[in-house]
Amino acid sequence: MATENLVSKGNLLLAALPVANRMRLTGDRPPVELPFSETINLPGERIRHVYFPIDSFISLITPGVDRAQLEIGLVGNEGMLGVPLLLGVNVSPLRALVQGAGHAWRVDADTFTREIESNAATRAVLNRYLYVFLSQLMQAATCTRFHLVEARLARWLLMTRDRAHSSQFLVTHEFLAYMLGVRRVGVTRAASALQRRKLIRYSRGNLSVLDVRGLERAACPCYAIDKKIYSRVLARKVRAIGTHSPPIPGAAQLAAQIATSISC
Ligand SMILES: [Zn+2]
Repeated sequence: MATENLVSKGNLLLAALPVANRMRLTGDRPPVELPFSETINLPGERIRHVYFPIDSFISLITPGVDRAQLEIGLVGNEGMLGVPLLLGVNVSPLRALVQGAGHAWRVDADTFTREIESNAATRAVLNRYLYVFLSQLMQAATCTRFHLVEARLARWLLMTRDRAHSSQFLVTHEFLAYMLGVRRVGVTRAASALQRRKLIRYSRGNLSVLDVRGLERAACPCYAIDKKIYSRVLARKVRAIGTHSPPIPGAAQLAAQIATSISC
């Protein structure tokens, strides 16, 4: 994808910032490419960069004991990787794994910290994202404890589809097991159930969503709850800032897009 197309597609948080603030973060460096299944951070590792995904997306996985790992978050172009820096901590508590290959803006940790410490407008947008992020973590805890595997798989596939900007994406059996916190046989059972209902097609790691509305009905309520929180706390704020800031390519369109695509 050409760099100018990436700029116009962009990351919604960066697009919400005044252009001068965004330029202090990214400069005029091109986005980096994130390959599928690359590990960006390990638990306990120092955070050297913040990532603002464009057409990539990144899974956040808890540190596991005896292979007991669980995905508790998914970051696409609506968010950022590196939230601990907002709280003054430069160590990753989670494993960050590229689940969708693509591009991201990469900002070194020192530059990011200087910006949030010196600029209230940048801090305000990112604080709102921090609230959304923490809300999603809390929702993930409820989801894992109370909701059925098939409904959780439907929710995760919808979240992935939103961030992949496509109804077709790659996902390994192993990763689905991480995501659901179950053994592979549990993954097979849940995916087969959704296939029998003609909601998805899954073969050799290739996933196709066939019926979005049907999948939404099959998903647990957490999918809609997450979107409502994002819409209430961030999307309207993003739209307001994007509309009144100096022009950045695509910012107003992106702000409108986020408000319509993420609102329930
Ligand atoms: Zn749930």
